[in-house]
Amino acid sequence: MSFRKLLPLMLVIACFTASAQVKNLYNYQDLSRFYYEKQKDSLKKAWICPDAFKDRATQKEYRELWDRRTNAVLGALADNDYVHDREVFGYIDDIVRQLADANKTMIPVKPLLLIDRSPAINAYSTGGNVLAVNVGIIAFASCREELALIIAHELSHNILHHVENSIYLRAQWLGSDEYKRSLNAVLDSKYDRYSRLTRVVQGYTFSRSRHDRYQESAADSLAVILLNKSNIPFNARFFLRLDSSDMQLKQPLHHPLKEYFTAWRLPFEDSWAQRRSRGLSSRAYAFSDTTTIADSLKTHPDCIIRYNQTKALSAAAVHWTPLPATVLDKVNKMMIWDLYSTTNLTECLYRILLLKDKGYKDPWYDFMAGNIFSGLYYADRELARFNAIGIVQKELISKDYYALQTMLEQIPRDNLRQYCQDMHSQAFWRSNDEKDLGTLLNTLALDPDNSDKNKDRAAHAFSSANASSMYCEFAKNFEK
Ligand SMILES: [Zn+2]
Repeated sequence: MSFRKLLPLMLVIACFTASAQVKNLYNYQDLSRFYYEKQKDSLKKAWICPDAFKDRATQKEYRELWDRRTNAVLGALADNDYVHDREVFGYIDDIVRQLADANKTMIPVKPLLLIDRSPAINAYSTGGNVLAVNVGIIAFASCREELALIIAHELSHNILHHVENSIYLRAQWLGSDEYKRSLNAVLDSKYDRYSRLTRVVQGYTFSRSRHDRYQESAADSLAVILLNKSNIPFNARFFLRLDSSDMQLKQPLHHPLKEYFTAWRLPFEDSWAQRRSRGLSSRAYAFSDTTTIADSLKTHPDCIIRYNQTKALSAAAVHWTPLPATVLDKVNKMMIWDLYSTTNLTECLYRILLLKDKGYKDPWYDFMAGNIFSGLYYADRELARFNAIGIVQKELISKDYYALQTMLEQIPRDNLRQYCQDMHSQAFWRSNDEKDLGTLLNTLALDPDNSDKNKDRAAHAFSSANASSMYCEFAKNFEK
């Protein structure tokens, strides 16, 4: 193809990517409370507790534990913990389908996939042929094959009935004579009741954690089999990547904090980011180690063991399939929006700065930074600034993160107010609902009328003009 023929095509591609970037993510109605409304009843019916124990008391414990699982999933659906974004869902569901189709005897029915909005680098199976993949792990994955391993691992938990077995074993233990005897001994003893009780519970948790470890390696082994049958190459190195999954907020910034603010033409004083000492409590913490984290704090412990157990099964050098840019773009934005709507403003802003370091230039991130300042000023007005900042424990964050957290805590009210006004006037929004969200935030943060009635009016104006906008989720908080 000659260059002249190629040029219009390139322009079409360029226009497509530009429009793909500014297009909204999902609709408000794609949140799980609405989208899975119909599935909820069928899930309830499918998850009726079986009769497993002759002993009535044990069966009762069993039913309670069983229903607790059902209610946890139904509650998460009602709380909009999941979202059905067509593109992201389609991409992940395609992997699930490939694995299910190639392993029909083990997976006769394609499982129900849920996309969890959490930025945590995790996926989980709930049993009952349902699995959830977090937005955080999609953004973290280096390639399609890595996601396939994670999904195959969760499918294996379902195939091996790990959740159901855990429920069964726990009910069996709670109904056992041994448990009752030890519990009665505790209740009969006058002294040291508390420490004896902890010992009984620990006896249970210890055997459970041993059991969990066994389940994890069983799920890993089966996952490799499922992948092989699906012709998806496996690499044990993915476990080592997973080992670093808690390092996200430990990543340092590429530039001094101040530079990100001056790029927005906002004033920044270094003293805001330095903790003012207040007696003993402000003892300095050394952020020296940015490479490791204690195994006990990790979301995924035992990764090194899992790597060693499976490394012999790794495929030789192959071409790994990168995630489509549009899927990555979406999951990054979904994470930012999730952190914003759950009011974790420091993490939300820090992740925006990290994405800027990676070269993301979409003005949507500047629009969201503006929303963060308005949200923080609003929280300050409601005397809830500290809650909105969302403190993260020092072991999990970088020195830069701590500086940003300190800055959001200490920046004077008047400067914060200036931030809201300056960012609002820079009009980073690209669509009507973004513009209207800015107006709503402006009302919430800056309108002299701080009454609930005024907030309700502004929120209602937003959601009636933008009924399908994902930002309705935010507006609904202020509607009476
Ligand atoms: Zn697992």
